[in-house]
Amino acid sequence: MARIDVTVRGAGIFGLSIAWECARRGAAVRVIDPEGPGAGSSGGIVGALAPHVPEQWNGKKAFQFESLVAAETFFRGVEAASGVSTGYGRKGRVQPIAGPEALKLAEARGEGAKALWQGYSWRIEAAERFASWGLSGSVIFDDLTARMHPRHCGAALVAALQGAGAEIVRDGAEEGRVCHATGVAGLQALSEGRARSFGSGVKGQSALFRVEGLAELPQLFIETLHVIPHADGTVAVGSTSENSYDDPRSTDAQLEAMIEKVRALVPPLAEAPVIDRWAGVRPRARSRAPVLGAHPDRPGEFIANGGFKIGFGMAAGVARVMADLLLDGVDTIPPEFRPETCL
Ligand SMILES: Cc1cc2nc3c(=O)[nH]c(=O)nc-3n(C[C@H](O)[C@H](O)[C@H](O)COP(=O)(O)OP(=O)(O)OC[C@H]3O[C@@H](n4cnc5c(N)ncnc54)[C@H](O)[C@@H]3O)c2cc1C
Repeated sequence: MARIDVTVRGAGIFGLSIAWECARRGAAVRVIDPEGPGAGSSGGIVGALAPHVPEQWNGKKAFQFESLVAAETFFRGVEAASGVSTGYGRKGRVQPIAGPEALKLAEARGEGAKALWQGYSWRIEAAERFASWGLSGSVIFDDLTARMHPRHCGAALVAALQGAGAEIVRDGAEEGRVCHATGVAGLQALSEGRARSFGSGVKGQSALFRVEGLAELPQLFIETLHVIPHADGTVAVGSTSENSYDDPRSTDAQLEAMIEKVRALVPPLAEAPVIDRWAGVRPRARSRAPVLGAHPDRPGEFIANGGFKIGFGMAAGVARVMADLLLDGVDTIPPEFRPETCL
């Protein structure tokens, strides 16, 4: 049997992306997940790769920006290797502007983007430019935001890994360098026996509509809702944010209220059929930032967790710094993401 260089526990977006980056660089990789790929929060439908606002810059925002820029090459590479679409597309994002105060703020952020988002812009535009959304007045348009389809992306990563000879198994031995990318289960395990929680889960519910003809539109962020047209003629809408919940996977009246709200706000969805409803639990570390580096409880092993609401947007950057660490022992992880910040 071939020697394994890297074992990754967890086949969500973090684990699969790290595994792919290691395999792409020539490592022999084994991914272990008892539930199979995409069983956790990465198996959903929403897939906004959206930046934080361009102001009050910090290490987390800078890392996210770099990850979003790197995402195109990363996901196109997965597609080229697998022959499977990830649903990736940098179509931008539209956000309605509510009034004069919001307009002033949007203009200031446009100036911020000029300084902070090299090569990308945040600007004020007439809503008519995006007529199919049925909005009026002015909107913010940014050309950094992208979309991908989480389920398709997971399938593409699995195919790319298998094509590169990686093992993806439900049970197996850990060999070589070991990285734990186990989502909310990993955060809960790290909280056990500690005075303070290391991290926890935040449930989200989302819906998928069937609407043809919107696939080339930028996604819409309206009244806290993400509305994401996918390449396949579906439109995803998310998400609720629930700190307490009984069943991590069920959908309920909170989602039905969200569906009613988006139908009232977004004309093309008013009559469109809902073809899927999905719930998952986001891994939120106590720092609310990704947690990357040496595993606090397993000497010599590593952790990649805490994707919270931006795990897909961070995936390309997380894969790069974790592969640097796992394969070359080179640590370029921002201090904000060190596991010690959650202890
Ligand atoms: C409704 C909703 C909408 C979202 N929308 C977006 C969005 O638009 N954009 C965005 O960037 N992010 C979004 N997110 C967040 C994103 O889904 C998460 O940040 C991301 O999925 C986290 O990935 P992960 O790989 O860390 O965890 P997970 O996907 O949860 O994967 C962890 C895996 O580890 C496995 N596992 C657990 N224990 C073990 C063990 N002991 N050994 C081996 N494997 C184990 C699990 O089976 C699971 O498959 C959304 C989340 C939700 C719930």
